[in-house]
Amino acid sequence: MKAFASFQKEISTPKKIFITTHVKPDADALGSSLGLANYLIKKGHEVTVVTPTDYPSFLNWMKGNEDVLDFSAPKQTAKAKRKLKEADVIFCLDFSVLNRVNELGDLIRRSDAFVVNIDHHQDPEDFADFRVWSTEAAATCELVYELIVKLGDKKLIDKDIAECLYAGIMTDTGGFRHPNTTKNVHHVVADLIEMGADNSQIANWIYDSNSVNRLKFIGFAISRRLVVREDLHLAYFIIGKKDLKKYESRTGDTEGLVNYALSLDGIHMAALFSEREDGIKISFRSSADVAVNKFAASFWNGGGHKNAAGGKSHLSMRATIQRFEDLVEENKDTLFPTKDLAEQT
Ligand code: 5GP
Ligand code: MN
Repeated sequence: MKAFASFQKEISTPKKIFITTHVKPDADALGSSLGLANYLIKKGHEVTVVTPTDYPSFLNWMKGNEDVLDFSAPKQTAKAKRKLKEADVIFCLDFSVLNRVNELGDLIRRSDAFVVNIDHHQDPEDFADFRVWSTEAAATCELVYELIVKLGDKKLIDKDIAECLYAGIMTDTGGFRHPNTTKNVHHVVADLIEMGADNSQIANWIYDSNSVNRLKFIGFAISRRLVVREDLHLAYFIIGKKDLKKYESRTGDTEGLVNYALSLDGIHMAALFSEREDGIKISFRSSADVAVNKFAASFWNGGGHKNAAGGKSHLSMRATIQRFEDLVEENKDTLFPTKDLAEQT
């Protein structure tokens, strides 16, 4: 691992830079990538942003969105590979294990470029030459902001960059509600607003852009696909392929659904199981003192943060749910250390 000075030297002259982030990018993943890209372009670098998959259309307002290459789109793969091959510097943002970027992971592992990892997830893999990593940070966007400031370029943060970074902090703190919403978060977003970020407009673009189908889908999921296990302080959604098809679900449409399960009184752990092309995608959420990242990493080939994590299952839906309930039951003492489950039963 190299020191800050070698990183600073590496980007002190114009370079070919490749920025990537995790599959199905959210606002923090795309916002940190485009916020950083717009800054590096201002510094005279040639920058390409490549996402491993597509992302929700409610992020399309970010500056630089039109130039993002989707590695999974057949027509864009070759160009993305070429850009990766030509790169002097590769930035990996908002993930810290290479299996989070699909096939791009092996290409990055084999690359001779200077690899930088900026992230706030637990248990990083050792693949970078330089790392900006803190699990104390609420969002990768917060770390990118601090990095630009540390590089002495605070004055280069304009409205476009500020808005990309603001978006990631807003969503990764659950709209400034999660326990990761620190004093520092408020200081950073205050700066970003001062630099031109239109906070209310960004909230509107991201949270108030539902289609009628999506709203109906949420209603359907809550009334027909929600399982509540009060005895285990647990609630979860089971969403099948047919449900997604019926409501013409698009990328990002299931985002936030799991929070409705967690919003129930007395529920401390929530999950969403959704049936995708490549298996069952699982999202976990939990209240402050319940850690779901270890549960995701130990049993579901995943990871994430203490209160928001995810993973996968390649079993059938029925078998997945059975395994999930069994695992929660077996591990309830570690999952819910301070909850008196016996009292409930
Ligand atoms: P979401 O449920 O919104 O997809 O993800 C919640 C959090 O868990 C995010 O921070 C995300 O990066 C992480 N996460 C989701 N799925 C996976 C996964 O399959 N592997 C790992 N390592 N992290 C995941
Ligand atoms: Mn993040």
